[in-house]
Amino acid sequence: MRVLILGGTTEATALSGALAERRDIDAMLSLAGRTSAPAESALPTRVGGFGGIEGLAVYLQAEGIEAVVDATHPFAAQMSRHAVAACEQAGVPLLVHTRPAWTPLAQDRWTAVPDLEGAVAALGREPRTVFLTVGRLSLPAFAAAPQHTYVVRSIDAPEPGELPPRHELVLARGPFDLAAETTLMRRFGVDVVVTKNSGGKATAAKLEAARTLELPVIMVDRPPPSGAQVEHRLPAVLDWIEAHRPTP
Ligand code: NAP
Repeated sequence: MRVLILGGTTEATALSGALAERRDIDAMLSLAGRTSAPAESALPTRVGGFGGIEGLAVYLQAEGIEAVVDATHPFAAQMSRHAVAACEQAGVPLLVHTRPAWTPLAQDRWTAVPDLEGAVAALGREPRTVFLTVGRLSLPAFAAAPQHTYVVRSIDAPEPGELPPRHELVLARGPFDLAAETTLMRRFGVDVVVTKNSGGKATAAKLEAARTLELPVIMVDRPPPSGAQVEHRLPAVLDWIEAHRPTP
């Protein structure tokens, strides 16, 4: 059975590992090619866009793909929308495999905002020291609020033009733990955290650290879901693939 995984997440890496061990499944991982050194994959991997909905539909047919698992990041909304349209066009079943969103505890001081512009506005006028973990491609939005100092954490070094004028750069790839996150926030004198609601364990420690230090968090809400069926757990994804195995 030919399966395509749309990846770029720890969920996609785990699913790739599980499918690589299966002789009855011929799976392929697809990455956008945004990070220079992506996490190692256990599966054959293709890199780069498909060329929109039409390109993906043609790819699915040409490669004889029989099921697609969209395990892209919850904020990769365009790819997820394209997957819905292309799978419908090509008559291929589609599942979204993603992590649940984070939810605040009673003592948390979160401000939910709908998008990056909302996060910039929520920072306010007074200069603050902001721990910014929104991903390299989302940094340019913060040029609109140059009065703040940003502690920017990123996997790859941003281009100089992508960074806000006042910044400290921390290059690192998760997972991160509570002790290290607390130390980092104290070291830079962070007074507010800005993050996307990515969910998952690998980067949740910053929220625990904010709770410990009683810092406010500006939480960018997820874009609307693509409408395809969603499974959060890997065993449920494997069951779904099994249920969509074409009959010989
Ligand atoms: P996006 O805005 O939804 O997608 C933009 C375009 O990039 C898509 O239309 C598609 O190009 C291409 N693309 C995206 N994911 C792809 C994949 N897995 N395989 C092949 N092409 C892909 O996505 P994004 O927010 O730029 O994210 C890009 C990648 O980074 C995703 O794979 C995502 O899982 C990962 N990621 C994103 C975030 C985030 O915050 N957005 C965080 C962590 C990881 P075509 O139209 O040409 O097919």
